[in-house]
Amino acid sequence: MNTERPRGQRPGNFYSGVDLDRADHLRRDAAWLRAALAGENTLFVPVWRDRSLIETGTEARGLWLERADLHGLPGGPDNAVFLGRHGGSALFALDLSELEAPEATLALNGRGTFQDLRAVGPILARQDGAILAYARGLLHWHKRHRFCGLCGSATDQNQGGHVRACTDSACGADHFPRTDPAVIMLIHDGDACVLGRQKAWPEGMHSTLAGFVEPGESLEEAVAREVREEVGIEVSSVTYHSSQPWPFPSSIMLGFHAEARQGPLTIDPHELGAARWFTRQELRNSPEDETLRLPRRDSIARRLIEDWL
Ligand SMILES: [Zn+2]
Repeated sequence: MNTERPRGQRPGNFYSGVDLDRADHLRRDAAWLRAALAGENTLFVPVWRDRSLIETGTEARGLWLERADLHGLPGGPDNAVFLGRHGGSALFALDLSELEAPEATLALNGRGTFQDLRAVGPILARQDGAILAYARGLLHWHKRHRFCGLCGSATDQNQGGHVRACTDSACGADHFPRTDPAVIMLIHDGDACVLGRQKAWPEGMHSTLAGFVEPGESLEEAVAREVREEVGIEVSSVTYHSSQPWPFPSSIMLGFHAEARQGPLTIDPHELGAARWFTRQELRNSPEDETLRLPRRDSIARRLIEDWL
């Protein structure tokens, strides 16, 4: 892989670049974690059934809670997951999914509502978006790994919520948060690039091709295979662009620009509803309506397209 130009001086992709010390060493310090959970300055990032708490009125800020906000919470915040230290406070993610009406239980008094980060993400303050994504991704993993994949026994959270340990002493397997690598690529040739759309997407929306990396495959091979499968063409050069955490539910997107010879596409109907070559002019003039709309502004897909334009 080569890089065309240094990426370091440019702003990172959305959902990354948060000013947060993950403080890995504190995850193993049970006494520190206990004290932090009871601390007055500690902040909690609540997640309810995959929804994040958004401050009322602004619609662009996450709402973190303090210990005092949690007195109505049955069992307290003992199962909170340590995210790290942020601006002098310990920050924990807190799963409230078992509550029927979390706003009422916590007596939020209209300060915030639970919303889908996938819907509000593009207008969120970047730091808030990154923290909400981290919290949502980690809690989603906990919910899906309550039982050991080796022996089927229950698992318990450990190390501040960064490990789930099997409770069967004969097994004792540790399970770690998972992130699934996916490649996402803008395929181009001269003044044209390939965009496709899935049938379920909003009317008119087109995006770059993408797919999961398979076992035993390099990233470059995954790019070439996905392009071959989805639109039936061969890529020549594959150049790394940047990456983006995409915890919807648990991916990291690895972005590439790749070249291919402009020609007819053979679309896999199981993967795509449509795909074709678009010129730069067409994309610059995108009306952003049901005839042609570019991907959402918080996505690396949008970044790959804009940087190519
Ligand atoms: Zn086990």
